[in-house]
Amino acid sequence: MVALEEKDVVDYHVRLFGKRAEQVIYYEDQVCPICNTRIDERGWCGCGTIGGD
Ligand SMILES: [Zn+2]
Repeated sequence: MVALEEKDVVDYHVRLFGKRAEQVIYYEDQVCPICNTRIDERGWCGCGTIGGD
């Protein structure tokens, strides 16, 4: 498996979310009970359990 270059990750994130990862706002008070990561402004967590409409 080939590791992604940093710019590839950024490009992927920009395509997916329309902004770079560091520009995404995370809710500090909302954490996914499954993966324990913060919920971002679009309602998605790290594992994808929470998210979507
Ligand atoms: Zn999660």
